[in-house]
Amino acid sequence: APLQDVLAALRADGRPSLSFEFFPPRDDAGEQVLWRSLRRVEPLEPTFVSVTYGAGGSTRDRTVRATRALAEQTTMSPVAHLTCVSASRAELRRVVGEYVDAGVSSVLALRGDPPGGPGTPFERHPEGLGTALELVELLRTLGGFTVGVAAFPQPHPESADADADARVLALKARAGASFAVTQLFFEARLYTDLVQRSLDHGCDIPVLPGLMPMTSLKQAGTVAKLSGSPVPERLAERLAEAERTGGPEAVRRAGVQATVELGAELLEAGAPGLHLYTLNRSSASLEVARSLGLGSPASAPVAADAGAALAAVR
Ligand code: FAD
Repeated sequence: APLQDVLAALRADGRPSLSFEFFPPRDDAGEQVLWRSLRRVEPLEPTFVSVTYGAGGSTRDRTVRATRALAEQTTMSPVAHLTCVSASRAELRRVVGEYVDAGVSSVLALRGDPPGGPGTPFERHPEGLGTALELVELLRTLGGFTVGVAAFPQPHPESADADADARVLALKARAGASFAVTQLFFEARLYTDLVQRSLDHGCDIPVLPGLMPMTSLKQAGTVAKLSGSPVPERLAERLAEAERTGGPEAVRRAGVQATVELGAELLEAGAPGLHLYTLNRSSASLEVARSLGLGSPASAPVAADAGAALAAVR
């Protein structure tokens, strides 16, 4: 069934959505890691699996290849990301054509980050698009796609305030987006505030909270910098304490447990499901999903190592 129908049905029958995000592998070793992860999440029958879109030509081809392989070789629905960075309208149309050819019918329409780095203005391609809103409109004119967009619980670095993000989300929904996935964040209140503000702007599309379990102190530092979502002091202290008392494995367990707690809080607050950022490693995300009873109840139990880790966090 088209993703749009699946999302509508999920809301109707109350079963939370579950989705995972991957990036296209850079080499053969990365490809193996990705496929191991995909095969491990597949039995959970996720609502969809999304694949990110990079800045360069070769990484872009890899997104098309990875989503094609997902569509052809797995039972999962791929969602292909697409950005406006350094592309003319004609080039964007060509990539969309490649997605259609690859059997992909759902696209996450994004503007992309400024190619000059954080703090520099986004420069549109002379014949291209300047916002995700314009990309949603382009996809609508091409037709036949379920379109998702980004949403920001922690204000987007270029937005004047949090209300601006909600307003832009509402515009994207009005232009044809039927669901949203959030940037990662660590506090449930940021999500519920965003959803409330979006509702105030007349936008009621499902907004899937995007969560990433912090599995090491280094990751927590890098992720905070890249995503613009600071790790709250309480979580940073919890991870540091775990490191002091139990080393890296304890940090990992604490990171998974914190994500389980945040996920539970979000689902209780009415989130339509969870979207898990995997960094192509499935174990931590699987533990979170299992712990919260997400995904197909009929799926096979997770591998022994994940099961043991789960038992330890409980
Ligand atoms: P937009 O919605 O265009 O917003 C960008 C800025 O412009 C915001 O500050 C917004 O408030 C403002 N704005 C937009 N439209 C208007 C308007 N009409 N009026 C006033 N202000 C406006 N990047 C990648 O390169 N590849 C990926 O695969 C990728 N995947 C992502 C997945 C998710 C779930 C998320 C949350 C982000 C992802 N990103 C990805 C990063 C994303 O491209 C950046 O966060 C980017 O800076 C903003 O993208 P956007 O689609 O939200 O842009």
